[in-house]
Amino acid sequence: GDTVARLGSDEFVAIVPDLEDATHPERIAQDIIRELGAPYQLDGMHVYVSACIGIGLYPRDAPDAGTLMQQADCALQVSKSEGRGHFNYATTTLQTEVRSKIALSNDLRRALARQELSVYYQPIIDVATGRIDKAEALLRWKHPQLGFVSPAIFIPLAEDAGIIGEIGNWVFTQALADIKRWQATTNRLVQVGINKSPAQFESPGCDWPALLAQSGLPGSCISVEITEGLLIRNSARVKQHLLEFSAAGIDVSLDDFGTGYSSLSYLNQFHIDYLKIDRSFVSAINSDPNSRALTEAIVVMAQKLGIRTIAEGVETVEQRDTLVALGCSCQQGFLYAPAVPEQEFRAMLAAR
Ligand code: C2E
Ligand code: MG
Ligand code: MG
Repeated sequence: GDTVARLGSDEFVAIVPDLEDATHPERIAQDIIRELGAPYQLDGMHVYVSACIGIGLYPRDAPDAGTLMQQADCALQVSKSEGRGHFNYATTTLQTEVRSKIALSNDLRRALARQELSVYYQPIIDVATGRIDKAEALLRWKHPQLGFVSPAIFIPLAEDAGIIGEIGNWVFTQALADIKRWQATTNRLVQVGINKSPAQFESPGCDWPALLAQSGLPGSCISVEITEGLLIRNSARVKQHLLEFSAAGIDVSLDDFGTGYSSLSYLNQFHIDYLKIDRSFVSAINSDPNSRALTEAIVVMAQKLGIRTIAEGVETVEQRDTLVALGCSCQQGFLYAPAVPEQEFRAMLAAR
């Protein structure tokens, strides 16, 4: 008497109208997972499939069919993240999570106007000279109730909410103003790395070369940090943007290098000025011979291609020294300083 339907691609739904007792849904879920898990004979071969299940209960979880499906889907996503063969109920904590995500993204929409966002700067040191001639701009959001929210949480929210373009442009113009201020007060032109996520390349009105031209600053004071994931798409639009950066004298850095797809062909196809060696290599450089070998290989490869390297997440003197020995003297990390507010960064510049 139950109904089974295919929603699309590999998603199916089972509607069970008359529950016998509280454990009935999970008995069904376990039966489905077990039955689907048995091997199939296909052209004389054993083939295995697996399933993940999300369970929503009416009327406990939702008042109508549409919301019930959403709740089940929410539980399904959790099951998927746990791996094959799991099932989960839609719970109130899941619902609160979804709801708080919506609340947070509403707060984020107002954050710019309420001046809750600020740009911090993390110095990038050239160990060979001891100078700070670069920095990375890192966005900070101080939520009035929650305190500092991690960019790892709010950047994806800004992308989903369609406001990453606006926020990213604000970071860019803020950085330009700060570079000008440092130039005026310390007579130093610092190059600032600004992160640009793939979604920012898709959103309209993110013409950074035009904003730069208005500021009167040279392109060399900006480096745009992109990730490998952007290049793998190989879209004409991205290519066009990168060409425009080059034409404006803006450098392009490949962030978190070594953690993504690491297809080397795009080092050929695109004009890349810097590889930022990911923190995961740096943190293991003295304990794991493979991390050290990979770092060495990245540095040598970059040198041969005329690309400069920056090591991310340097935390110890030992990591610093190993990196210098391998030929990477441009470094950033807590050993030197975390990202700090503009005034503090300005003081660091003046002190060196
Ligand atoms: P990212 O670009 O790879 O930035 C480096 C992250 O590593 C920063 O985290 C920084 O605070 C942290 N870090 C630096 N040195 C160390 C160290 O020695 N040890 C450890 N454990 N961590 C270190 P943060 O500020 O939380 O930013 C996280 C990510 O959020 C950034 O990764 C970047 O992808 C993104 N992000 C930050 N600001 C912006 C922005 O303005 N626009 C966009 N699109 N993304 C941003
Ligand atoms: Mg970065
Ligand atoms: Mg990085």
